[in-house]
Amino acid sequence: MNAPENQNISDTREHHQLRAADAANLLHPWADLSALGDESAMVIKSAKGVHVYDSNGKQYLDAIGGMWCITLGYGNEELIEAMAQQAREMVYYTPFGDMSSSPAARLAKKLAELAPGDLNRAHFTTCGSTAIDSAVRTAHYYFAAQGRPEKRHVLSRRNAYHGSTYLAASLCGKLADRTLFHYEADFVHHLASPEYDPDIATESADERLSALLEDMESEINRIGAENIACFVAEPILASGGVLVPPEGYHKATLDLCHKYDILYISDEVVTAFGRLGHFFASEVHFDILPDMIVAAKGISSGYQPLGVVMISDRIIDSIKANAPEDNPVFSNGYTYSGHPVACATAIANINIMERDNICAHVQELGPYFLSELRKLSSSPIVYTVRGHHLMACVECWTGEEAGPTERNIALAQRVDQYCEEAGVLVRPYENLCIMSPPLIVDRDDVDRIVTVMGDAIKRAQRDLD
Ligand code: PLP
Repeated sequence: MNAPENQNISDTREHHQLRAADAANLLHPWADLSALGDESAMVIKSAKGVHVYDSNGKQYLDAIGGMWCITLGYGNEELIEAMAQQAREMVYYTPFGDMSSSPAARLAKKLAELAPGDLNRAHFTTCGSTAIDSAVRTAHYYFAAQGRPEKRHVLSRRNAYHGSTYLAASLCGKLADRTLFHYEADFVHHLASPEYDPDIATESADERLSALLEDMESEINRIGAENIACFVAEPILASGGVLVPPEGYHKATLDLCHKYDILYISDEVVTAFGRLGHFFASEVHFDILPDMIVAAKGISSGYQPLGVVMISDRIIDSIKANAPEDNPVFSNGYTYSGHPVACATAIANINIMERDNICAHVQELGPYFLSELRKLSSSPIVYTVRGHHLMACVECWTGEEAGPTERNIALAQRVDQYCEEAGVLVRPYENLCIMSPPLIVDRDDVDRIVTVMGDAIKRAQRDLD
């Protein structure tokens, strides 16, 4: 839908003023510095359901779900009311030491019920990055308290994305994310990127799995298991390009962690809270019970910034038992850890998800979305289509070399641009078009995303001819 004919002049003026203010004074996260100061930003001004509207009044179906996070859609009155009610009752008080709040305590109890196994202790943070940071620090504390401070090295993977604090950014394994910032190299190590895509693979899943496990074990032996604290892993690498590991990988890597006394931290910032059809995906989809699970994003449906580390009883009991007597303080946390408004929103979010059977809806719609999307892989400019439930990715190529070459990236950008022109927002990353729509999308929304993506692919292909 284009801007209404009678869109009034003050709206147009406001649109220009917003862009000018943005260009003059805002430094965006992950800004393209070559465009800094350009009055070209897309300013999203309002949103409802699965749609967002820019400052020109144009409507888009948000196939990105904000940033993997808007799960119940925009303008959900129950979530808004939960936020308002908590803000009226008590907007904030310190969570430090022995101070608590009703929403934080109630949410922690609910999360302990939802999380698998003995992951019964919730440590709240402000977002996914700070939750990753906190999980690694918890692993460090756990071993240091046992008198093993040298067990501090961290295993991550190439193509991983874990966030943007100093430590979380150091765990990220995408080369494109490495710029002029400083990254921790002393104790962070990257294993091989674990994806296996049967549609393009030149080896069997078993061969790939063996190679990945060999890589992991030899890296453990090189560093020395006595020096390694934890392995941090997204079940499916999200921003790295929706990379799905081969069957059996998660269980086998957890077994290696157990063998070498390495803690397994599952980064479910994207995959938890329904995106794969369950509150937590680790146990149900991947048959693993990690030592810690990190979640954020969908925990509050993106309505409030919130992250959490779910920690096993075993770790907590050990930390408590071994904390130094002269200073038994777990010195980690933030002013806004477990912010009452964020926690109240998360409780309302979980209640709605349970009442409306959102996970069952995703279990039904996810496979349909992927099977429809996979039909696009017959196009000569689509290298492969992959995903899992409501996370998906179309990988573009010109038919020459696969991967993020200049020409493939330009092609994906074209597909993205044509989708945007047709009113669907997907996320371009290198030569990929990534999709993670709100969980409340219905069949019509899914059909629209796939149709628009298909048309965009055809247009981009014609441009190549
Ligand atoms: N972990 C994963 C898997 C993510 O995708 C992200 C963000 O996209 C993060 C961690 C960091 O979360 P945040 O941006 O909320 O700090």
